[in-house]
Amino acid sequence: MARIFLSPPDVGPDERELLLDAVDSNWVSPLGPHVDAFERELAAYVGVGHAAALSSGTAGLHLALLLHGVGPGDEVLVPTLTFIATASAVIYTGATPVFVDAEPSTWCVDPALVDTALRRRVKAGRLPKAVIAVDLYGQCADYDELEAVCGELGVALIEDAAEALGARYHGRAAGSFGRLGVFSFNGNKIITTSGGGMLVSDDRALVERARFLATQARDPAPHYEHSTVGFNYRMSNLLAAVGRGQLRHLDEKVARRRAINRRYRAALADLPGVGFLPNAAGGEPTNWLTVITLDPAAAAATPEELRVALEAADIEARPAWKPMHLQPVFAGAERLGGQVAERIFTTGLCLPSGSSLTHDDQERVIATIRSVLAGSHQVPA
Ligand SMILES: *Cc1c(COP(=O)(O)O)cnc(C)c1O
Repeated sequence: MARIFLSPPDVGPDERELLLDAVDSNWVSPLGPHVDAFERELAAYVGVGHAAALSSGTAGLHLALLLHGVGPGDEVLVPTLTFIATASAVIYTGATPVFVDAEPSTWCVDPALVDTALRRRVKAGRLPKAVIAVDLYGQCADYDELEAVCGELGVALIEDAAEALGARYHGRAAGSFGRLGVFSFNGNKIITTSGGGMLVSDDRALVERARFLATQARDPAPHYEHSTVGFNYRMSNLLAAVGRGQLRHLDEKVARRRAINRRYRAALADLPGVGFLPNAAGGEPTNWLTVITLDPAAAAATPEELRVALEAADIEARPAWKPMHLQPVFAGAERLGGQVAERIFTTGLCLPSGSSLTHDDQERVIATIRSVLAGSHQVPA
């Protein structure tokens, strides 16, 4: 039996056709017609005016911060429960991340804590330059609250939608909240270009500035003229061709992940101590990964015991994100709360959720989990 991966790429004949078109046209790099088309098509899908295709989602977050003037001495509020790239981008600019706990109903950044932190800093006369919200595991953060407080106090809100392409919140597409949104096309995300990212915004000037900074900040001149230092962050025409093929099938891929999530819920919810990442009201998540939680007081195994049992059956599962405030590299960083994120980390396990997961393979995952969690359940004395 073949190994079952957590969230592998899901590539089809459209990608092959478009990729060969790019090769046959000899337009493999750097930019080109597939890049322009991918930007247009993705912006149209998200319902925003403009998009810049980049080498990674991390590059998009870095540029998003620079476009808001974030630099040394500044603070940026960042959810503690996320992938490290959200925080790394802050470090690249020389600014300092302040980690904010998750809320139990979404697992995304707690807007009440963001509100408190911002108002406390208004009093101290030192507002953070930006707040980054992450649409965790493909579920949008509470943007009603976040947009209200950031708007009132004049703090830039940046949306890390790396896991959420195709999600909606009160009918609006993920990526369209705040002034800038960032997507990732890493191999394990909703759609992939093998590696890549996209920065989106309704603000044309911001996106043009992002493209300028991402192509070594070349000033308009026949020779190489530079008045600022930029980056080599653009996407190649080859990868954009793959991305266009993936985008054609985005809705199907999201529908598959949602169906996988529903099936896990139906098949596992009766097991003692088993819970799931909640689907928040008003949201339509991508269910990028299905994450179960195991209550230590009731479940027959710990997440790590279950992960090891799945691994023995050649099934890949992974712990939930380890909070940034627990990471050695961020020891001593300031944080607000953290207990919610810590509990998700210690009780959570991410299950195989890729859009190419077959019915039979998901059955195998479910059967293995049930054998671990149902078999040895004991009623406490
Ligand atoms: C994947 C991911 C990123 C980084 O994207 P890359 O394209 O891998 O650089 C950033 N933030 C979150 C929340 C992610 O899951």
